[in-house]
Amino acid sequence: MEATAQTSHDRFTLTPQAGSPGMIVRAEGCELITNSGRRILDAAGGAVVNNIGHGRQEVADAVAEAMSALGYVVPIWPTPYRSALANHLVEHWLPDGFDQVFFAAGGSEANDTAIRLARMHHLSRGDEQRHKVIGRIPSYHGSTLATLAIGGHMARRDGFDPLLAEHPKVPWDNADAVAAAIEAAGPDTVSAFIAEPIIGAAGPALMAPLDYWATVREVCSEYGVLIISDEVMTGFGRTGRRWGFEGDDWLPDIIVAAKGLSGGYTPLSMVTAHNRIIEPLIEAGRAVMFFTYSGHDASCAGSLAVLRILEQEGLMQRAAVAGARMLDALTGAVGDSPNVVAVRGRGLMLGVELTGVASVDVVGQALERDVWIYPGGSGPAVNDGLLFAPPLIINDAQIDRIADVTAEAITAAAR
Ligand code: PLP
Repeated sequence: MEATAQTSHDRFTLTPQAGSPGMIVRAEGCELITNSGRRILDAAGGAVVNNIGHGRQEVADAVAEAMSALGYVVPIWPTPYRSALANHLVEHWLPDGFDQVFFAAGGSEANDTAIRLARMHHLSRGDEQRHKVIGRIPSYHGSTLATLAIGGHMARRDGFDPLLAEHPKVPWDNADAVAAAIEAAGPDTVSAFIAEPIIGAAGPALMAPLDYWATVREVCSEYGVLIISDEVMTGFGRTGRRWGFEGDDWLPDIIVAAKGLSGGYTPLSMVTAHNRIIEPLIEAGRAVMFFTYSGHDASCAGSLAVLRILEQEGLMQRAAVAGARMLDALTGAVGDSPNVVAVRGRGLMLGVELTGVASVDVVGQALERDVWIYPGGSGPAVNDGLLFAPPLIINDAQIDRIADVTAEAITAAAR
């Protein structure tokens, strides 16, 4: 599309602002390019989305092919792109026993669907009282009214309380609190527990202690409560593993993914569940209502092309190596800063927790230096933080530049 001189936010004032580098007209590799030729280093993959790097022609070609063949097909029917992607996911990405995939367009829709799926599982088994979903503070699962209600992003919930159904909340790092919350809510009313294995926007890269998940798994199994792993940010290799929960030696009942599934090239999310969760629905003749854009063919074709690049170029393995280097670089650059509480994370999902300085101010200073970092923190556990999640192809020189600019930006913002 022809780039115009219009660079202001005049028509987008409803969207939160964090400075503007100008109109973005191209993107290549790890860089976003403006109409004035500025090159912004994308240290956050947009919103922890892009994984294979920007501007891959193979993905554009795959989407164009799908759109030449098909415009829109109602989600109840198979198409070659939908079927190929679902098969590919089951064969190459999902844990054993996860043989069904439900597509949606974004993370909020997918988490909303996971809440419905858990409820329908219990209903199908005659467990009609189970409906509460235990969430953690902090957490973020989306901005629909249901996902805000189960989430613990205090800033994003602000003002909506009268519209939000009440669901129990627990601190993010206390496994015993999960059992206590189930008991307090009434065990036969609890449907599910939802968590991000590594917390994203609400508390950049907070990770619960190692034995946390084993205990939570045990507690939830004992009480018949399903675990939903919200892998919207952590899925598809971002953490150096296929899934954020992997390696902590436990398996969720339901997995929700988005962002990395299509690397942001096309809008796509998914929900999958172990067969034992889905079988009661099938026996009861229930199905989950789709969204109009569930499994759109452009999205599925784009996702398949993105996943093939991820696999063929070993980008998940690269995330582990580059992530370790980036963690070292950030720790070296800002670890001793009086404005930094912690530097943490796994793979290329890294966080810096701040004190005495606002995350948006640091992000603004970094943007002035042509680096995009994602602002995070929601109170009360983490008020301000930075989230780093560049495309998994990021190179060493770019990592060093991000670390240097982060240090300069924190110092400038704190001044
Ligand atoms: N879940 C997590 C963990 C997220 O980080 C996000 C978005 O950042 C969402 C859900 C919501 O996804 P979306 O913005 O695509 O609706």
